[in-house]
Amino acid sequence: MTSPMPQPGTAETVTVTTGRRAAYLVVLVVLPVLLLALAVPAAWGWGIGPRDLVVAVVMYLVSIFGIAIGYHRLFTHRAFKANRALRIALMLAGGMAVEGPLTLWCAEHRRHHKYADREGDPHSPWRYGDTGPALLRGMLHAHIGWFYTARHRSSRRHWVPDLLADPDVRRFDAAYPVVVLLSFALPAAAGGLWSMSWSGAWSAFLWGGLVRYAVVHHVTWSVNSIAHTFGDRPFRTRDRSSNVWWVAMLTLGEGWHNWHHVEPTCARHGVLKGQFDPSARLIRWFERAGWAHGVRWPSPDRLTTHRVDHSPEAGSLR
Ligand SMILES: [Zn+2]
Ligand SMILES: [Zn+2]
Repeated sequence: MTSPMPQPGTAETVTVTTGRRAAYLVVLVVLPVLLLALAVPAAWGWGIGPRDLVVAVVMYLVSIFGIAIGYHRLFTHRAFKANRALRIALMLAGGMAVEGPLTLWCAEHRRHHKYADREGDPHSPWRYGDTGPALLRGMLHAHIGWFYTARHRSSRRHWVPDLLADPDVRRFDAAYPVVVLLSFALPAAAGGLWSMSWSGAWSAFLWGGLVRYAVVHHVTWSVNSIAHTFGDRPFRTRDRSSNVWWVAMLTLGEGWHNWHHVEPTCARHGVLKGQFDPSARLIRWFERAGWAHGVRWPSPDRLTTHRVDHSPEAGSLR
């Protein structure tokens, strides 16, 4: 299925400068690892206490839900409509993950759906072939390599004209550096106020800021690398999207990736029995609260049509 609303007549990709590619490499790959390498030995000896654990888990949940429900299901795929307060809250939550401005993330992801695992996909693990070494290289490319190696980025004018026309999205993208600062300042402030000490602020910054940021990144990227390589494929798709339960649990539902490629606009990714999808659960709560509407829940007919063995065993469809 093609992604929603590409703009005809504009080039699909734009060339990126070497400087910008280097910046992606530093922010998305090198910096998290480097900061961890410096910070963890400094914290050695006092480890992670209950206060830091709470701050880190809360920041993790906010970041991952923000990406899954906000950046991905709402803004990229329009799986539901949300009132303005919820839309802004979800873009801010997604920004906490430090995975780039909203329009850039969504543009790359819409292109991924259009060309999934074919020429033109920004991050397919099958890019170099399907022999062992080629696949290993492809997985590394899909996980983090493409941030640096890609000489072309998805054009926002082509892929996300709808988002560029949204004043709230434009304001959010313009304020993105401040959002990134908040992603680290908030856990530090929470730890400092909770403990009323600078050391409490520092250790919460370490665990709820740096460690959480690195973990959130690799958890998200694992959908691109692992959930297009290993796992079950109960639905027929033209690509290699698959379901990997532990990726699904870490990503709060995003690792049920096979159905998502059948019907990208569906608000629920875990559609079969036993496929717990916390992000879909939360969207259901938003719907009940009256904050979300027009939610695209899966239709039993579509599930049956696309099942490989035609026996859906569907779980709760809402
Ligand atoms: Zn995919
Ligand atoms: Zn998607």
